[in-house]
Formats: sequence, structure tokens, C-alpha cells
Amino acid sequence: FRITTAKGKQLWTRAICHPQQKDGKTYKLQGTFQDISDRKSIEDELRKHRDHLEQLVESRTEELQLSTEAAEAANQAKSIFLANMSHELRTPLNAILGFAQIMSQDQDIQGKHRKNLEIMNRSGQHLLSLINDVLEISAIEAGRTKLAIETVALTDLLTNLIEVMMVRAEQKGVALTYDIASSVPSLVKTDPAKVRQVLINLLSNAVKYTYNGEIQVHINAQQDDAEHSVFIEVSDTGIGIEETELELIFSAFYQTESGIALGEGTGLGLAISKEYSDLLGGELTAESKQGQGSTFRFSFPVEVLEASDNSAEEVGNVIGIEPGQRNFRILVVEDDEINQILIRTLLEDVGFTVKVAANGQQAIEFTKSWTPHFIWMDIRMPVMDGYEATRRIKALPEGKDIPIVAVTANAFDEDRAPIFEAGCDDLVTKPIIPEEFYRVMHEQLGVRFQYEAPLTQPSNKIQLDPETITHLPHDVRERLLEASSQLDSRAVLELLDEIAEHSSELAQSIAQLVEDFRFEEIIDAMRQDDKACISED
Ligand code: ADP
Repeated sequence: FRITTAKGKQLWTRAICHPQQKDGKTYKLQGTFQDISDRKSIEDELRKHRDHLEQLVESRTEELQLSTEAAEAANQAKSIFLANMSHELRTPLNAILGFAQIMSQDQDIQGKHRKNLEIMNRSGQHLLSLINDVLEISAIEAGRTKLAIETVALTDLLTNLIEVMMVRAEQKGVALTYDIASSVPSLVKTDPAKVRQVLINLLSNAVKYTYNGEIQVHINAQQDDAEHSVFIEVSDTGIGIEETELELIFSAFYQTESGIALGEGTGLGLAISKEYSDLLGGELTAESKQGQGSTFRFSFPVEVLEASDNSAEEVGNVIGIEPGQRNFRILVVEDDEINQILIRTLLEDVGFTVKVAANGQQAIEFTKSWTPHFIWMDIRMPVMDGYEATRRIKALPEGKDIPIVAVTANAFDEDRAPIFEAGCDDLVTKPIIPEEFYRVMHEQLGVRFQYEAPLTQPSNKIQLDPETITHLPHDVRERLLEASSQLDSRAVLELLDEIAEHSSELAQSIAQLVEDFRFEEIIDAMRQDDKACISED
């Protein structure tokens, strides 16, 4: 009850009342009143707090909703930015690389100019791989990385890589041993860059976190029905990882305490490796005991090829169309003038008849009036884009059977679906690689080409002359050895210009070795060079 006292004060009371009865009749009520004002006011207080809390939760939920929406919008904006960046950077690079490649097919260019051209080509390729790396890192963050499956000499790749790591381990006084089972296929289809990256990360970590003892690498392969898998196990006797931290090491930016104490690394290596291993359809796991060492296991499926499957790829440049075929009319739909010239040159040089349309609208008109046999279709264009033009051309009676291949600067997987949905038969990405360009034309149009005899000597024939290395400035030699021992392609490629000042041949051979990931040969040559220096001394 709420009662008012004689002095006018309001009290909350709790009343307990017992009726006293006699012969079934109540004759007295006996009871107590207890002043519960304090309790009531605490309850009121609590209620107010609870109401406030509910309000707070509501408004926070609203805020959270808004910020989730904002984050999603930001993520989308980032994806669009990435796609645009990819387009903006690749389009001019397409022109630079394309023309440098066309020029290098010109037999009139010889001597110094040819060497300069090769440097241009190499630097362009390097720039392209830099751009790709930066995009790759952002793409991983945005959850959009793709596989680039190639024919790979797997055992060579693994052996070369491990042998370079042996040098690094040896420098640290740690033994690195490895064995590759005979069941491991020598030629496979997989994404070599991703496999390499994962293995480099695991081996670098093993070397980094091991101070005594040894690192062992066991590689074998298994066949399950038709599926082949490769298993790589890297175990070390290093500092190990605490059990509670084992799950966390695969998260981006996570470093264990001992990792942080070392003051090296970013905590990204294993996160990227895990991402790549998932993409490959593989598995990456870790087992460790603190103070005793760690074992990382990486497995991935591969498509096994016969050794002879590779030979078809060693053909030379396309030099013309095989005689005796019809006169092929090719329509190039492209708004960018430089790309128009580039594609036109690639086509006319080998003997196609070419017409260029600057947008989708014109492409439709030319399809009707000129009936091409094949169409190269740019996607982003003013007036009418490539999607719309392809849809309309494929709806025309004279257009439905013409192969249309898109040329796109966007490298991401998700950009492919709308291109095929619009009706394109295939697509190539910029920068255009001539071999791919002609291969697609062969596949889609059935045109047969003539090839020059393979120019490139088999790449395993590259020899670095220790004598020439001796003549490089001391600091360049030091940096070259350091960069090669670190398997740091970028750092080696950055030295090429300085090396080329002394011998462009040496620079070229080194570039080729880096491209093939054969760092151990550079290191070997440098060691011989060291011996040469010592014996000279
Ligand atoms: P980091 O660049 O720091 O090496 P990683 O993602 O490669 O990043 O590794 C994450 C963390 O996992 C490291 O900081 C380290 O603490 C731990 N770690 C990785 N490999 C090993 C190993 N072989 N032995 C001990 N700790 C390791």
C-alpha cells in the first residue's frame, strides 16, 4: 500500500494481515505494516535503468545496422575501385607491352636496339606483375582471388625452390633436407604461383623460427580414383607454437608472441597461404609443440600430364596464316585508338582483312553490311557497350554464328559471367598476349597459322658466366646475392638495369632465370665468382 503519514510523507508499505476467527467468524485482524520505501525506490531506479538500457540497445542496434550498411557500401565501392584501377592500369600497359612485342618480332631490329627493346619488354612485364601483386593483395582482402592454371614442371619447381631455401638455412646454420617420392608427377596442371607462394611461406617460416636442429621436407603424391594429390610436409625443430595459438596463426596479421619478439614479418604469410591453399582445393594444417618444433602440411589436387603434352607449347611466333584458306574478314570493335592500332597490327601482320568499329552501334552496322567471320569485342565503350552489341549481333540472322571474343581489362572472375551471358564465345584479358590472341582465333575460327621455328633455346640451357659477374661492381654483386638468396624476384629485377650497364646479356639471362624461378643457378654462379675473386686475390 502507499500510505500518507500524519506529517504528509508518502510511504510504500507491505502489509501482512491474519484474521482471527472463532466459531467461523472473524473477530479480530492482526497484522503488521512494513515500510518498504527504500526497496521501492531502488526498484524504481532499477526500472529506469532497465528502460534506459533498452533504449540504448535499440539505438545501438540502429547504429550498428547503419554502419553495417555503410561498410557494405564501402566494400562495394572498393570492389568498383579495384575493377576500375585494374582497367586504368592495364589498358595503357597493354599498348606498351603489345607494341614492344610487335617490334621484337621485327627481324630488322637488331643489336643494341633489340636489347633495349628486350629491356622494355621485361620492365613492362615486371610492371604488370607488380600491378597484379598489388591487385592480388587487395583482391584477397575483398575476397576475390582467382586461380591461373598452367602446365607446370612440378618436380623442377619444387626442387629449385627447396634448394634455394637450403642456402638460406645453411647461412643460418640449420640443416635442410628433403625427399621427393617417385610418385610425385613431373608434369601437372596447377597454379604454380600459388603453390610456390605457399611453399616459400612455409619454408621461410621454418628457417626463420628455427635456431638449432633441422628442417625436413617430405613430398609425396597419392592417387584416389582419378584424382591426384600432392602432399608437402615441412617440419622443423624450432621454437614451436603454443596450443592455444595454433588456430590463430592462419588469421590475417596474427603473430605469436615469439613471432612479434623477432620483429620480422607481418603475420600475413600464413593467412595468404591458407587462402591460396583453399583456392587450389587443398588443405593447410599445422601441428606444433612449444619449444620442440612445428610441422606444416600442405596438400593440393593436380591434373597429371604426360611429359609429351608439353611439347605443343614450345612453338615459335605466329608469322602468317597457312595458305589455302579463305580470306578471313575480322571486325575489331574498340574505342581506344591505340588499342585499335595494336589489334589491327596483330591481325594485318599475319594477313587478315580488318575493319574497325569504334563502338557497339557501329559494330552492328558493319556486321550487317560487311558480314565479318570473327569479331574482337571491347567491353567498355561509349554509345553502346560490348555486352549490348554482342546481344544484338547474336540476335541477327547474319550474326548468330559469328564467333565473338571479348577483350577486357578486368581480370576478376566475376566479370566473366556477364560477358558469357551476353553471348561472347570466349574472352582474353588485356594486356593482349599474342600467343593467346592467335590461339583463341584458331579455336574459335578454325584458322590455321604458320609458326616460325622456336627461337628460344630451351630455358634450361641458360649459363651465367662467372667471369662477367666478377666484373660487376661489388655492391651490385652483394645485392644480387642477397636478393637471390631471399628468392626476391622483385629485388633481383630492380638490379637488372645496373647489371645491363655492364652486360646486357647477363641481365637478360638473369631475368630469364628469375622468371623460371631458378635462383639457385644465380647463387651458384655467384659462388663460382667468389672463388674466382679469391683465386685472383
Ligand atoms: P609472419 O610474417 O609473422 O611470419 P605468418 O603468417 O607467416 O607471419 O606466421 C604467423 C605466425 O605464426 C608467426 O608470427 C609465428 O609466430 C608463427 N609461426 C609460423 N610458422 C612458424 C614456425 N615454423 N615455427 C614457429 N612459429 C611459427
